Amino acid sequence: MAGSRQSHEGAAPEPCPICRRKSLPRLRPFCSERCADVDLGRWLTDAYAVPAEDGDEDDGGPILLPGIAGQTGEE
Ligand SMILES: [Zn+2]
Repeated sequence: MAGSRQSHEGAAPEPCPICRRKSLPRLRPFCSERCADVDLGRWLTDAYAVPAEDGDEDDGGPILLPGIAGQTGEE
């Protein structure tokens, strides 16, 4: 992966994803420990709520892109 580790200190801080308030540098991206806790709770709830399902939709065969069909040299 391209790892551009540039710290943008003071450059447009992201708002708290929970309440959209200004985030604290110490608790980034959250504004408070409460919000960090809420997010963690949501995450865990989500992890348990999501049923184990493998998105296996591989039954359509080869994907035919429009444009490629018809480009076969008809003589
Ligand atoms: Zn918050």
